[in-house]
Amino acid sequence: MKTIEIDTKSREEIVDITEEVRKVVGNKSGLLFVFSTHTTTGVTINEAETGLLKDLLRKLSDLVPHNADYIHDRIDTNADAHIKASILGNSVFIPVENGRLMLGTWQRILFVEFDGPRRRRVHVIFYETEKD
Ligand code: ZN
Repeated sequence: MKTIEIDTKSREEIVDITEEVRKVVGNKSGLLFVFSTHTTTGVTINEAETGLLKDLLRKLSDLVPHNADYIHDRIDTNADAHIKASILGNSVFIPVENGRLMLGTWQRILFVEFDGPRRRRVHVIFYETEKD
């Protein structure tokens, strides 16, 4: 297992962690599991086009606005971040063949911050499979 540390710079942002994740693999075949250890971040696979990344954050905020009379905000001020994290999910699997991540042409592994800036940790676990 490897742990990637990410220092996010703003309250909401998306960080492309594909190259960091790729370093874990070597030249083997198997399955990669990418898991965020936080309750206010997400992990997803999508295109890392800058306009699309802004659209994703904006539409999630349209759906779950900040400071909108949440019960959790009585003890904390980040209920929206928790809800967005649950919508997105906090992990992804990626198949790997001979060291190559089997991502589609435009697919990238994206870490999504909803309550930064903070230091964040993502675990990357590689499960090697038997040879055919
Ligand atoms: Zn909270």
